Amino acid sequence: MAWKTLDDMDLDGKRVLTRVDINVPVEDGKVTDATRIERIAATVQDILSRGGKPVLLAHFGRPKGTRREDMSLKMLVPTLRDVMGAEVIFAEDCIGDAAKAVIDGLGENQIALLENTRFHAGEEKNDPELAQQMAALGDVYCNDAFSAAHRAHASTEGLARLLPACAGRLMQGELQALESALGSPERPVLAVVGGAKVSTKLDLLGNLVEKVDMLVIGGGMANTFLAAQGIDVGKSLCEHDMADTARAIAEKAVQTGCALLLPRDVVVAREFKAGAANEVVMVEDCPADAMILDAGPDSVAHVAQAIDSAKTLIWNGPLGAFEIEPFDAATNAAAKHAATRSSHGQLVSVAGGGDTVAALKKAGAADDFSYISTAGGAFLEWMEGKTLPGVAALHQD
Ligand code: AMP
Repeated sequence: MAWKTLDDMDLDGKRVLTRVDINVPVEDGKVTDATRIERIAATVQDILSRGGKPVLLAHFGRPKGTRREDMSLKMLVPTLRDVMGAEVIFAEDCIGDAAKAVIDGLGENQIALLENTRFHAGEEKNDPELAQQMAALGDVYCNDAFSAAHRAHASTEGLARLLPACAGRLMQGELQALESALGSPERPVLAVVGGAKVSTKLDLLGNLVEKVDMLVIGGGMANTFLAAQGIDVGKSLCEHDMADTARAIAEKAVQTGCALLLPRDVVVAREFKAGAANEVVMVEDCPADAMILDAGPDSVAHVAQAIDSAKTLIWNGPLGAFEIEPFDAATNAAAKHAATRSSHGQLVSVAGGGDTVAALKKAGAADDFSYISTAGGAFLEWMEGKTLPGVAALHQD
């Protein structure tokens, strides 16, 4: 691996500028889900235990270069303190004298939290001057914000080039999981891609057909592929204007030797609501007044077979309208099957992006997947084969 981890750095007595993603949901000034804060604990505690001074840099919301009290990181101090078991000292700015005074005054088992980086317009512009001002506050840079790594901002990219840089524990885990799924995976590799629309996942599908051995297409986007084959999908969600694109992806799959798996049977209903009357039909037999809302049992068996034959699985997007029962059945069954294979050590399974985490949690499968990425946009860009600027900047000699 070309990038360094905390293990490669001398942290004793060092001010460690640590870029984290603590953009947590907040209601009435209170944190309602602390998951993102919990996930950076290993990094912060590692720095503390090795005599380093953690100085947290983070964004919150979209203040667009202005100071907004409702987007101040100050409100996260109590939760950070509770999760880290350490005192958190807040600085009113992420650069300059206010930040320097807090950092200089840091004692043992204390963490500095600097104000929202996006209060400065230079953050999202990756302004070199802002990055310089941040760099002046630290000795070492640690990036633990994989979920912000698809953006070349001053605190995620520019700053990484100005100090000895390394990946934090969360970033390290994420990169290792992704490397094992698409970088140098054990083959055969199966990708399951579901969700609403082909148009939002074009780059992703284009990249995957080049890299994986089998590709399951499910959810609403499968309807577009079926329609492109001349199948009447009735009132289903379908992007008819994407038919050429769907055909091009299918042709590319033939050229690269990637087996494309589309639904064989589907669950159709006349209403998009929980408990709507439904029936299972073959894809060719979708009634004109019905919509496809889930994959059928035969399709699920087909997906399960593909999972059984794979050594590596990468998953994004549900196989049906998983938020409303019973149209979550295919997603649940396939996810549980993959989870079981993973827990028996037969499969490396990596999932993430958008609704996927929610869908796998709902299926009760999330805990047994090898790795679940909560990174959203960054995970999808990585699946698209794009270089993430925040990761690229860590590749230093
Ligand atoms: P995405 O954000 O692209 O991953 O899409 C997820 C959304 O696709 C979820 O809200 C699902 O309910 C929706 N979805 C999946 N399959 C279907 C389908 N057959 N018809 C309508 N919506 C679907």
